[in-house]
Amino acid sequence: MDNLYDPAVIKSLLSRHGFTFSKRLGQNFLINPSVCPKIAELGNAKKGFGIIEIGPGIGVLTNELCLRAEKVVAIELDERLLPILSETLSEHKNLKIISADVMKVDLKKLIAEEFSGLSTAVCANLPYYITSPIVMKLLEDRLPITSVTTMVQKEAAERLCAKPGTREAGAVTVAVDFYSKAERLFDVSRSSFMPSPQVDSTVIKLDIRERTPEVGDEKLFFSIVRGIFTMRRKTLLNALSGSMGIEKSAAAEIISAAGISPDCRPERLDMKNLTDLCEKYSDYFKG
Ligand code: SAM
Repeated sequence: MDNLYDPAVIKSLLSRHGFTFSKRLGQNFLINPSVCPKIAELGNAKKGFGIIEIGPGIGVLTNELCLRAEKVVAIELDERLLPILSETLSEHKNLKIISADVMKVDLKKLIAEEFSGLSTAVCANLPYYITSPIVMKLLEDRLPITSVTTMVQKEAAERLCAKPGTREAGAVTVAVDFYSKAERLFDVSRSSFMPSPQVDSTVIKLDIRERTPEVGDEKLFFSIVRGIFTMRRKTLLNALSGSMGIEKSAAAEIISAAGISPDCRPERLDMKNLTDLCEKYSDYFKG
């Protein structure tokens, strides 16, 4: 395989295929040769593992994954990249490329069909325009995967890997912490990409929890979390009654039963506070 980290090689490859970058699809391809091997190694690409890659681009990370994992399935939305990938990755027999929008793929079915007898992990350099929806899909679908290792925008990494109860936390932080143990692995500068984006990046790893916190009604839990975080700077009393459309007196009773101060800001609540709040909310309306 040609050196796909070399900008001159990339330019010649892309121009031969008449390909131009799509900003809309978040196409910033890695040209720093040290990054992909690290993502592959830290992301469980090894014997006994099937890897799902989202957005292979011209295949630099895919190549490192194929060299290490038992099997790789790469999902790419941009059909213009398919002939390029057939050329750059032709030597790998353990690779399947699927031409689709990852948001529309039934990943549970894909794992059952493609990775029978293997453990599964996800590795990616995600398109930034759709990072949170993809991460949430991977987590909420409760896929049989061990980890998600991915490059995201630096600011997104701070939010995704924050601890609930800290200033950086948002509703997505709570969801990530609910389903996984999140860790920031290493930073990647904007000069590592072609074209170079306006922001720096960070590789994060989400280790999927075998057991998630006990909340009873998971749907209710996330509707409370999403609701109060839309009013994160208000008092919890106002945020809970406002976002859930309940009387202030009811909100006050629920908050007090959960052992939380009504003046506390939603962003200060840790996972235990949030699960207690959900439990007491549910108890209150059960009567
Ligand atoms: N993995 C390559 C790399 O590191 O150089 C490319 C990463 S680039 C940041 C993101 C890739 O995701 C692009 O190839 C883009 O076409 C693809 N993509 C964008 N939206 C997608 C979607 N909804 N489903 C699948 N792939 C998508």
